[in-house]
Formats: sequence, C-alpha cells, structure tokens
Amino acid sequence: MRKVYLDHNATTPVSPIVLEAMLPYLKDIYGNPSSIHEFGRIARKAVEEARAEVASLINAKDAQEIVFTGSGTEADNFAIKGIAHALKNKGNHIITSCIEHHAVLNVCKFLEKEGTRVTYLPVDNNGIVDINELKKSITDKTILISIMLANNEVGTIEPIEEIASIAKEKGIILHTDAVQAAGKLPIDVQKIGVDLLSMSAHKIYGPKGIGALYIKKGIKITPLISGGHHERNRRAGTENVAGIAGFGKAAYLAEKELSRESPYLVGLRDYLHEGIKKKIQEIRLNGDPKKRLPNTLNISFKYLEGESIILNLDLEGVAVSTGSACTSGSLEPSHVLVAMGLDAVDAQGSVRFSLGHDNKKEDIDYVLEVLPPIIDRLRKMSPLYKEKK
Ligand SMILES: *Cc1c(COP(=O)(O)O)cnc(C)c1O
Repeated sequence: MRKVYLDHNATTPVSPIVLEAMLPYLKDIYGNPSSIHEFGRIARKAVEEARAEVASLINAKDAQEIVFTGSGTEADNFAIKGIAHALKNKGNHIITSCIEHHAVLNVCKFLEKEGTRVTYLPVDNNGIVDINELKKSITDKTILISIMLANNEVGTIEPIEEIASIAKEKGIILHTDAVQAAGKLPIDVQKIGVDLLSMSAHKIYGPKGIGALYIKKGIKITPLISGGHHERNRRAGTENVAGIAGFGKAAYLAEKELSRESPYLVGLRDYLHEGIKKKIQEIRLNGDPKKRLPNTLNISFKYLEGESIILNLDLEGVAVSTGSACTSGSLEPSHVLVAMGLDAVDAQGSVRFSLGHDNKKEDIDYVLEVLPPIIDRLRKMSPLYKEKK
C-alpha cells in the first residue's frame, strides 16, 4: 500500500544529509565541548558552527544570541518564565493570544498560579490576532508580549512586525514562537525587531529533542536550568552535540532551499485544496486564505468528526492529523478553531494536511482518490448529516 505522510507540522523525517552530519558526533567525536583538550575542541567547533547556521536562518546579528535548548517547548518555557522572573520587579502582566501552542499557553497558565496576570488576545475568523485589543490591554505592568509567528494548526501568519513596533514603542519585550515558521518563511529578527524567538529542529527535517531560543543581545533573562556554565550561563547541561550539529545542518539546508521549496509546497497544497473542493461538498478552509504557511491546509468536513476521518485515512496509508499532535486522543474541539469562532460542528470535523518537500503530486492524487469515498461513507453514518437532510 502507498504510504503518504502529510503530518509535517507534527514532525518531519530527518533529512539524510542531516543524519550524515550527526553521525560523527555519535561515534568518533565524543569529546565534551567544555573540555579544553583536542577532543573537546573538536566538539566545540561543531557546536559553534551549528550556532552560526541557526543564527543565519533568522538573520541574528551575532551567533551568541542563539541558545540551544532541549526542544521548542523548552525554548518557549525559557523565554516566558525567564522574562517573568527577570522582570518581576518591573511588572507582572503578560499578553499572549488564545491560539498559541500549548508550550506557550500552559506556561502562562502556570505563571497565573504564581500571581502573574495574563491577557489572552482574541483572533478573527482567519486566526489573526486583534491588534486593537493588544493596544488596549497594555498597562504599565506589562513586561512581555508572546505571539506566535505562524500557527501550527491552521498555518495563519501573525502580523508580527506590527506587533513588534507596538512593543518597541511601549518598551515591552516581544517573544515569538517561530517553531512552525522557521525554515518555511524568510525570517529576519533584526528587521522584525523581535527580542526572543523559539525554534525546533524536528520541524525542519532535523532531529527531535533539540531546539533554540534567540535572545537579542542585551535582553536580561533568568535561566530555566541551573548548573554549569554552558551556553554562556544561560542553559546548563552538557550540549547535545549530535543534535546541535543536526540542527545546524537542517537550518543551513532550510535557508538554502527556502525560495525553491516554498512555491513548490504552495503549488502542491493548492492542488490538494482544489481537488478536495471539486470532489467533496460542504467543506470549509480554516486559516487565512493568503497569510498562511506554504505547506498547511486545514479543512473542516461538515457533519463529521476529524478523528474518524484520520483513522480511515490511516487505514489507506495516509497520515494526517486534527489540530495538533498534543490534543489528539482528547475529543475536545481545538482551542484554535474555537477561538476563530467556528461552531462545534465545523471545529469537530477539521483535518490538518501539512505537506513536506518529499511529497509528490502522485501522493496528492492518491489522497484525492481515497478521501472522497471515506467522507461519503462517514457522512452516510453521521446523525448530524441525516438530521440536516
Ligand atoms: C512543535 C511546536 C512546538 C513544540 O516544539 P517541540 O520541539 O516539539 O517541543 C512549539 N510551538 C509550535 C508552534 C510548534 O509547532
């Protein structure tokens, strides 16, 4: 049976070139980058070269502004808890949005229990953050704004430059979760004017368990993890050298391929969308039709539950997901779709197709062949569908 992987926003396969770049550090080059002898120096060189590649992907001014972390989740935790701690004498108010990844939302929930005040900004029907609400919610106690660059479920790209200019004017630190955006959109932290930015290797064909936080020079932040002097005292723990080397190579490849890959993905994604529109009635595109990640297509199939579509596609060898990998298994509607104002019927029936550079037109043709009969069959069994008839 054909296998078609369309769940790249959950994770990506490790590129063979990335794997090659990692292998030496799992075999012969085993030195500790903190050691001063030759074994250590060789490992250190690999870490610093990778740091420069990751810095280049987002056009950071100085590679030392990149701190490696254990995941994108850790980068988000570090950014938000680190600023809340460092600036606790200045204020205790954070502004974020309703559609953030749980790595941001649950950090904010955690801080609320410790007395931090958090504003969760609403979004419009396309998932774009309400800028007027942002302006209104700023107080003299606001220390941090954390808004994602692009949403993982629907792909909507947020107006981060506009948000950055507001933050700058008010002297508030801005963090953006760019885990989905990095490698898919050109990012220039100097041009945007963002202070902190999270990334993760496994979303860009790198290994799992390695992320990074960009921390603009001069930003005071309290470390999340205490210990040795690693990462210039910002993240203790012996570096994941192989993971870092893989992240560096993945960042290099992403930057090199971006201008070619992006239109390719848009073409393939829109071909899938057109095909679905032609063959299946009563669907809805979720997310901004234009300001959207090139690889992401989130569709609601009315009267159905996303989970049953996913399971049936899985039986045909096609891997897709509902909103996010973290909420699958719970039958609660996605917090992102609810925030976008979808009713329960639309929110339940949503499926996310997230494409990657290995996908071919034949993969999409296969999906367009197996999907319509699944939707047809499920709708015939759906009480909601029968009710409506
Ligand atoms: C995947 C993801 C994360 C978490 O990254 P991990 O490396 O898996 O911990 C955070 N934010 C967004 C938007 C994501 O898509």
